[in-house]
Amino acid sequence: MTQKVKKSDQEWREALTAEQYHITREKGTERPFTGKYYNFKGKGTYRCVACGAELFESKTKYDSGSGWPSFYAPADEELVRTEEDRSLGLRRTEVLCDQCDSHLGHLFNDGPEPTGLRYCINSAALDFEAKEGE
Ligand code: FE
Repeated sequence: MTQKVKKSDQEWREALTAEQYHITREKGTERPFTGKYYNFKGKGTYRCVACGAELFESKTKYDSGSGWPSFYAPADEELVRTEEDRSLGLRRTEVLCDQCDSHLGHLFNDGPEPTGLRYCINSAALDFEAKEGE
């Protein structure tokens, strides 16, 4: 079981920027091709911007052409949770940080090998940390 990070709505508002709060706590979506990581190729780890959980690694990041950072697998299956999302009249799979319940993005089945998955994630939900030797 993941150790949960719980904060009040007021605490989240104080801990996050307005954009980060909108994406992670209100399930917002940044406009494509505007986030800081969609075209970023640094080697390292992408942490949850809200709680610091290590969610994705640069080695699974690929250019999907969607305008959002895309990964074909999470760094740790235990830390990245999915749920059915029926908002906007669509049937999608929402991706969340299991540690703090932040909304991260959506999961699609048109990713590359070896998983065929595309974790389509908002840059504003991530915090990149460079790692040497990767
Ligand atoms: Fe988190």
